[in-house]
Amino acid sequence: MQYIRIRNYIDGQWSEAGVEGFAPLYNPSTGEQFGEVPLSSQKVSQEAVESSFVAYTSWHKTPIAKRIGFLFSMREAVIRRMEDLAVSIAVDQGKHISEARGEIQRVIQILDVACGIPSLIQGSTLERIGENLSGRVIRQPLGVFCGVAPFNFPALVFAWFVPFAIGVGNTFVFKPSTQSPLFMQKMVEIFEEIGLPKGVVNIIHGHRSIVEPWYGDRKVAGICLVGSTPTAKQMAQACGKEGKRSMLLGGAKNFLVVMEDADIDIFIENFLNSCYGSAGQRCLAGSVVAIVPEIYDTCLSRMVQASKKVKVGNAMDPDVFMGPVISKEAKKKIEQYIEIGIREGSPLILDGRNPAVKDPGGYYIGPTIFKDVTPCKTIYREEIFGPVVSVVAIKDMDDALELIRNQEFGNGACVFTQNLHYTEKFIADVNVGMVGVNVGIPAPHPYLPFGGIKNSHIGTTKVQGKDGIDFFTQNKIVTIKTAPPTGYSSEKNRTEESLVKKVRSCVAG
Ligand code: NAD
Repeated sequence: MQYIRIRNYIDGQWSEAGVEGFAPLYNPSTGEQFGEVPLSSQKVSQEAVESSFVAYTSWHKTPIAKRIGFLFSMREAVIRRMEDLAVSIAVDQGKHISEARGEIQRVIQILDVACGIPSLIQGSTLERIGENLSGRVIRQPLGVFCGVAPFNFPALVFAWFVPFAIGVGNTFVFKPSTQSPLFMQKMVEIFEEIGLPKGVVNIIHGHRSIVEPWYGDRKVAGICLVGSTPTAKQMAQACGKEGKRSMLLGGAKNFLVVMEDADIDIFIENFLNSCYGSAGQRCLAGSVVAIVPEIYDTCLSRMVQASKKVKVGNAMDPDVFMGPVISKEAKKKIEQYIEIGIREGSPLILDGRNPAVKDPGGYYIGPTIFKDVTPCKTIYREEIFGPVVSVVAIKDMDDALELIRNQEFGNGACVFTQNLHYTEKFIADVNVGMVGVNVGIPAPHPYLPFGGIKNSHIGTTKVQGKDGIDFFTQNKIVTIKTAPPTGYSSEKNRTEESLVKKVRSCVAG
């Protein structure tokens, strides 16, 4: 593979100006360095905002059909380059190629929705509030938005932010994760191909420090993040202090609850996808499996059997189910959690450390299962972000609901049952933002909003769907009182009425 040097994209130009150094990029499947990513200075970040600010003056006045035309072209280009884009994610993020293709597919679906912005952005009118008095609500863009992405969904998070933001008339400065910047490098090629005007989207690479100038910059209308909860909280504080609009999606710890009447085959299939897909590095990954006593042993033994068959290896190998984790450091951190689990006394019944793989240099952890985990344990409470599952014995559904309610996170939770009462009770009472019934990853379709509650989501509006539009627009409420033109009199009007009637009857006849 050719060595790749990632670059910033500012004001319609690839740029290395203001870069203070480069960080190496490794392929998590092999551990080999394949490129480098710039570590920009804060000055670069300010320049990017300035460029987007200038671009906004004409972009928000561009006729909506023309703006949406760019999204249609973007969508077509993403479809055309789907494989290339998917490979970019498999290479730097280590997501298995089949899942990487799924991520691009999801980007296309989100672009489908964003192409409907002319219908979604419409305001409303209230006529005849009083005599000659009406009201109108207009939805308008705000200016420059800035967004920060996590390493695990480089394409999806771009799609959650950028098409909605620019489709409604804002401009955008986007900071990908330094661990997975390749997708955005390819997207910039698409921006150039479709002729997106300069400054409408600027891409800057670097550490967290390049975000700091945004908070106090009056040119920045709002900031969004998808990342861990500590990052979301820090950004919430800074945005709150400066009165900035923010949409911040944080970390997670998701439950799969298995009731006594669950179809175990359906559960096992979903459990594998949920807990081991993307090597457990998904915000909707299952990480706690709560099982009622009637099926605890059977379910657990089926989970272990199925997990042992999970093939771990290179993200580009079609026979593999689970790829590597993102980095050497992430692997070490997950292994440390496994050690903590053992030390704190939870029985480790499947140990994924040092799995047999073809690429010994890659960052691999195999499926790992602890049983009889209790809520005070670290592995139960904290987000591990790897393929490590805590199995918890619950008495009944109320027990599961209470455990979920007491949890700091509230992203997703799923129940496996065929019983309508359990289904409805779970949907009504579970204290999370996204719920699944006989589904292991309750990721809402792009037509619907996506986001959790509690520490998984700081702010009110969520991403995509109608919420995606709400966050990136502001309402302007207009009160209109009209007065008749000079010389207009209702008396004169009435005397002319008979003439009008004559004309009408003539036309009708
Ligand atoms: P992270 O919080 O370490 O980093 C996310 C991004 O924020 C990166 O681009 C990073 O450079 C930047 N960043 C880090 N600290 C910052 C700070 N103080 N100020 C400004 N920017 C900062 O997260 P990560 O490890 O890249 O991603 C994994 C996390 O993201 C997990 O916690 C996962 O649950 C979460 N996530 C959540 C969702 C969701 O929908 N809720 C989706 C995907 C990932």
